[in-house]
Amino acid sequence: MSKTASLGRSEVQKEIAMNNGVAQSVTRTQPLWLLAEVTYRCPLHCAFCYNPTDYDKHTQNELTTEQWINALREARKLGALQLGISGGEPLLRDDIEEIVVEAKKLGYYSNLITSGVGLTEKRIQAFKEGGLDHIQLSMHDITEEINNFITNTRTFELKKKVAAMIKSHGYPMVLNVVIHRYNIGHVKEILEMAEALGADYVELANTQYYGWSLINRSQLMPTMEQLQAAEKVTNEFREKHGNKMKIFFVVPDYYAERPKKCMNGWGEVFMIVTANGDVLPCHSARVLPNMQFPNVKGDSLSYAWSESDAFNKYRGDAWMKDPCRTCDEKEKDLGGCRCQAFMLTGDAEIADPVCTKSPYRHLIVEAIEEAKNPVIASQPIIFRNDKNSRALMEGEFADRVKPFHALP
Ligand code: SF4
Ligand code: SF4
Repeated sequence: MSKTASLGRSEVQKEIAMNNGVAQSVTRTQPLWLLAEVTYRCPLHCAFCYNPTDYDKHTQNELTTEQWINALREARKLGALQLGISGGEPLLRDDIEEIVVEAKKLGYYSNLITSGVGLTEKRIQAFKEGGLDHIQLSMHDITEEINNFITNTRTFELKKKVAAMIKSHGYPMVLNVVIHRYNIGHVKEILEMAEALGADYVELANTQYYGWSLINRSQLMPTMEQLQAAEKVTNEFREKHGNKMKIFFVVPDYYAERPKKCMNGWGEVFMIVTANGDVLPCHSARVLPNMQFPNVKGDSLSYAWSESDAFNKYRGDAWMKDPCRTCDEKEKDLGGCRCQAFMLTGDAEIADPVCTKSPYRHLIVEAIEEAKNPVIASQPIIFRNDKNSRALMEGEFADRVKPFHALP
């Protein structure tokens, strides 16, 4: 994977240098991952949801089954191998079975990313027969109280039943648990629950602050001490229980000194098609200003990947400003996340403020300080639902949105 990406990058860099910052011709990179965000509808209302806060405007114009199947075919021709079927809650669509069958025919490794709501015996049987390779289930806590609070639903018992159903159909059990202030003290018990459910993989995904989690940041963000304690507990669990259940502890950006190489490089391996057909290099890219994104209703994926300004704009490093431009670490992280840079600073071309070399690092330090202060953090959570999405678009919650540059 990295070999392909690196070959592509050097080619793209050459193009970018020749074309005043925007590569105009075909690149040698290929999308290895296609993420199909098939719907933004969701029966859950998670406070940390990574979906855009203005998702409500995209719920009426979802792609048809045929349009999805075409997108799968085109992406496969471009070289995509992995297919994520995500949302919202993908199971709210009744054509996932058809999409799975087509994915199998095309030779994808397919992964259904679900809250579990809508997964029945009949559907899982159809997925198994249709060739779905993998199901990733989200879990939230060991307590019913916190599960139901953070998702604003009553889904605790259902999730346990779905976990057992996934296991009984011979799928590897892959649990994803988003970690935040309300459950970070339960990491040991969460791991014990996962083990009791027979999980093969557990991802402890510390909240990253995009979409709904950004407006709820002061409610969700744990302190450094809480994070360190959770990591310690995770390591102790690994030592005691061995590697039978693989545990991934995803460190949150804000507590790192360098940013992540976001999406493994802009336009290097990931391609996301959203519910309404927009084609994005990353989940949050639509927050960026002055960007036109291709859409599968009128554009080919080949055009989107190779020629569109949106995919070429931040490929390579020619777009960088100082300190990234002259930084000897730029190959490692490519300056971090463009969306995070813009959301926090208003400048999409500046270093990700997570980096300690960024002139805006103080914004992260302030957020970390705020996490220690329960008075500042006493705002109510804005749950992810259609009403709040519309309210955000209409300018409500202005005080919550004001510190950020790109919401909704
Ligand atoms: S994070 Fe929660 S609300 Fe958002 S799509 Fe997933 S299940 Fe739905
Ligand atoms: S200055 Fe930019 S390139 Fe250098 S480490 Fe920080 S984010 Fe990465």
